[in-house]
Amino acid sequence: MRIVLMGPPGAGKGTQAAVISTELNIPHISTGEIFRKNVGEGTELGQQAKEYMDTGEYVPDSVVNAMVADRLGQDDAAHGFLLDGYPRTAPQVAELNGILADGGYELDAAVEITADTEEVVQRLLKRAELEGRPDDTEEVIRRRMEVYAAETEPLTRLYADQGVLRQVDGMGTVEEVSGRILAALRD
Ligand code: AMP
Repeated sequence: MRIVLMGPPGAGKGTQAAVISTELNIPHISTGEIFRKNVGEGTELGQQAKEYMDTGEYVPDSVVNAMVADRLGQDDAAHGFLLDGYPRTAPQVAELNGILADGGYELDAAVEITADTEEVVQRLLKRAELEGRPDDTEEVIRRRMEVYAAETEPLTRLYADQGVLRQVDGMGTVEEVSGRILAALRD
């Protein structure tokens, strides 16, 4: 299956993506993870991404799109993938559509995990403390929520029009939410 996972920061995308990709035996491709790894290793890509990530802004489309095109071209993604945190902008949707069309594929589902803003801000503050992400201040977290609402949330309409949008309530235990996602994918 070819799936994209959307949802505001803190809705549990990363956790759910790990569960679902294992369940469906497809690679979990998280653009945020790839960026964090590159920042940690001090690569050129990491240097390009860091300033945006630190302020809660999106990394420029040209940088993200080139990285995803490269990643989806790798062998393990040939038979399916779960994209976590991509696409997030209209040009990224266009890029992904192009990559899929070139391969003769279609997207099977765009899953949007929905969540209450205040609840996810509190979750993210807790995570920042537990995982030692000191840059995740409340100000940056709120900015990330705003950017999601302005740039990414409206894109779900495009996937609804294509008939592939599945909205899933992200409140509840990890098992409850993954159960909902798997049920929605079977629809
Ligand atoms: P995430 O872990 O998915 O929340 O991503 C962490 C950060 O990486 C985001 O706040 C952005 O700065 C950057 N990032 C990840 N994916 C994308 C994307 N598809 N487009 C632009 N920036 C991204």
